[in-house]
Amino acid sequence: MVHRALSRRGFFKGSVAATAAGFAATAVSPAQAQRSFKSVVDLTHVLSPEFPTFFGVPGIEFEKKYDFKKDGFNLNWWKVVEHCGTHIDAPIHFSENGATLEKIAADQLVAPLAVVDVSAKAAQNADYAVSLQDLADWEAKNGRLPDGCCVAMNSGWQQHVTNAGKFIGKDAAGVMHFPGIHPATTEWLVKERNVVGLAVDTLSLDPGNSKDYKTHYTWLPAGRWGIENIANLDKVPAVGATLVAGVPKVKDATGAPARILALV
Ligand SMILES: [Zn+2]
Repeated sequence: MVHRALSRRGFFKGSVAATAAGFAATAVSPAQAQRSFKSVVDLTHVLSPEFPTFFGVPGIEFEKKYDFKKDGFNLNWWKVVEHCGTHIDAPIHFSENGATLEKIAADQLVAPLAVVDVSAKAAQNADYAVSLQDLADWEAKNGRLPDGCCVAMNSGWQQHVTNAGKFIGKDAAGVMHFPGIHPATTEWLVKERNVVGLAVDTLSLDPGNSKDYKTHYTWLPAGRWGIENIANLDKVPAVGATLVAGVPKVKDATGAPARILALV
């Protein structure tokens, strides 16, 4: 191998050799070609027709079109609500001319992850909304929110995901009760920090009892994305992980179920 490499090196002349040297200078050695993170945490719930939804109807339905025993291969057709399970909201979801899903740039879908833990407060108050004080407390402890980050609310609500009644929290009057992000907090993030995405471990960026969806109407038209029903935020640090949103590139979509990962 060494002999062959030397022979190949001898093959390059002039500018070709210069180009090759340029590549060699930027290429990583085998020792360097390791993952720059220790582990991958899956921030995604399993999606099934039973997963709780905002509209109370199954978010996904399956139809078995081909069966291995009969046809030699397996294949299902899906009927999917764009906003079900762990999923992304594109700007168009709450705006007239915002970006549709396929237009969100790839580099907006990889972001430093900032996890704001409000689980103790949410346990006392199902209508809890992440406040400016929560962010001030986060920054006092962890430093300024990183540029281009995703701010994620950990309300502890994922513990209720197998209990749709509690996860949705609908009362006798039909009002839902689950935590979300306060519109004033959202407005502050748009104006005062460089944040690409908001994530929540509940059904909606707005608290369940919101009537005006003001967090959605503030955040998405500002060209940012949202993630709802995110999972496992208790398994990642408050700061230091990188979120990777694996989002289907579907033309004109307003959102889609997504595989969300954290590199820790
Ligand atoms: Zn949504």
